[in-house]
Order: sequence, then structure tokens, then C-alpha cells
Amino acid sequence: MTEVQEREGPGNAVDLSGRVALVTGGAGGIGAAVCRRFAALGATVAVCDLNGAGAQALAAELGGETKARGCALDVASPESCAEAVEATVADFGRLDILINCAGIAEPIRGTLRQELSDWRHVMDVNLQGVYEMSRLSARRMAEGGRGGAIVNLSSVTGLVGHRASNAYGVSKAGVAMMTRTMASDLASRGIRVNAIAPGVIVTNLSAALIEDGRAAADAFLARTPMGRFGQPDEIARAAAFLVSDWASYVTGVVLPVDGGWTGFGGPSAPS
Ligand code: NAD
Repeated sequence: MTEVQEREGPGNAVDLSGRVALVTGGAGGIGAAVCRRFAALGATVAVCDLNGAGAQALAAELGGETKARGCALDVASPESCAEAVEATVADFGRLDILINCAGIAEPIRGTLRQELSDWRHVMDVNLQGVYEMSRLSARRMAEGGRGGAIVNLSSVTGLVGHRASNAYGVSKAGVAMMTRTMASDLASRGIRVNAIAPGVIVTNLSAALIEDGRAAADAFLARTPMGRFGQPDEIARAAAFLVSDWASYVTGVVLPVDGGWTGFGGPSAPS
């Protein structure tokens, strides 16, 4: 039998001091909560988003220059991904953590009325974007044998079928599998790769879907055991755990953070 070595554990709190984190979609609901939470736990943060002005405003709020930096990033563009990774390393000297938060929802229509161009756009952002940012970041994390941690944003929509969510659901299922494939490969480089699959979290993305009737908020809530939607910081806290030394033996996991939604099999939650 192989001898199991005792490993020294982390201290009594999640601590990200000395770590450099790049957050895509960092100006959005979940991304901004991740940036704020990571900065509060001591990390230096590159806030990167298609909304460059929003990213810069948040970086300034987090302390600017030495603590955070905002940058415009389009994850669908390989050139833009390379620029964001290299600028982060140039500014802060290293890259330890990548959080892939950038994501878009497709216009919700029945399959017969969908457009191939919408499918391609969602795949370019949600799936190719995660692949390219992870690939380029992992190269930097692997340098000098340092290692690192990646957290991807999948979705409960990527774990079980949602009607006509052909692009979004499939992209998020792809993110879940890419989490496992990359985790299997990058473990030997000291890089852990995990994903979070949120339920409905209160952000612009979910509000837009609910407000214009494209998503049935009441029906979703009715079968959520915890009986409420999630807050962005509840995702940020799960991400902080997954990138920290508290999760030192956790890789290739897709963690639902959904108030019990995927764990529950009934038609409506018990009252
Ligand atoms: P959001 O719309 O509030 O934020 C998304 C951010 O991504 C925005 O700031 C947007 O500018 C940015 N973005 C969009 N396209 C981009 C691109 N090409 N390059 C770089 N940035 C881009 O959405 P959110 O709710 O914060 O979602 C964050 C992630 O969590 C997404 O991947 C989403 O699919 C996932 N998610 C959200 C929910 C939810 O209920 N809110 C549920 C499950 C999964």
C-alpha cells in the first residue's frame, strides 16, 4: 500500500494574499463579486471585461495600480485573450488564478426558429473563450513549476436539459467536461481546474431573462429547496474556496451552487 503523506494544512481562514487573479467578465454581476471578494482576501486582481470602462471603474474602486487593474477583453478573440494574459503578467509579475466568468445567454426561441449565427456566437464566447483563456493562462501558471488554479462558470443549464437551450446549455455542458479534461491533464503541472454550476443568481443576465418572460422565475423558484435565488457573493465565496489551499486536493469537480435545485428530483419543492 502506498504511504499517505501528511500534508500541512492552510491557516484558519481562506487567504489569497500574494496571489494574482485574472477574472474574465469581471465587470458583470458574478465577476464583480468575485473581484471584490478576492481583493478582500488579499489577492491582486486583473478585472477584464468586454465592458472595459466598467472593468477600469471596478479596478479603481479596489485600490488601483498595485492592487487591481482593469482591462478591455473580448474572450471570443484569441488575440484579445493573449493580450489580457500577457498584460497581467507584465503588470503583476505572475498569474496564479483564472476565473472564467465571461458568458452570454442566447436569445430564447424554440429550436425551429433559432439562428446558426446565435449558436456560433454563444460557443465563441462561452466555450472557446474558456478554452483559450485557460490554455494561455495555464502556460504561464506552469512556468517555474509554480502551478495555479482555474475556476470555470458552468451552469445548472449545463447539467440537466432546459427546453431549447441548445447553445447556452451545450456550451455550459462543454465547460463542465473541459473542466474535467483539463484537470486530468494539468494536475501534473500543479494546476487545479474546477467549475461552479450556479442556479439562478440575481444579476443583469438572469434579470433580463426573467423580465422579458424568457425564463420562468416562479417555476424555477417553486422547485428550489432553499426557496430563493442566489446572490453573486455566494458564488464568489465558493470560487474563493476552490482556488484556495483549503481545496488543495480538489480538482475536476463541477460544484452546483443552486440552493439544492439539481439535487432535488420532485416537481415542486417541499413547503
Ligand atoms: P452578467 O451579464 O452580469 O456578466 C457577464 C459579464 O461578461 C458582463 O460584464 C459582460 O460584459 C461580460 N462579457 C460578455 N461577453 C464577453 C466577452 N466576449 N468577453 C469578455 N467579457 C464578456 O452575467 P453573470 O450572471 O454575472 O454571469 C457570469 C457567468 O455565470 C456567465 O458565464 C453565466 O453564464 C454564468 N451563470 C450565471 C447564472 C445567473 O443566474 N446569473 C447562472 C448560471 C451561470
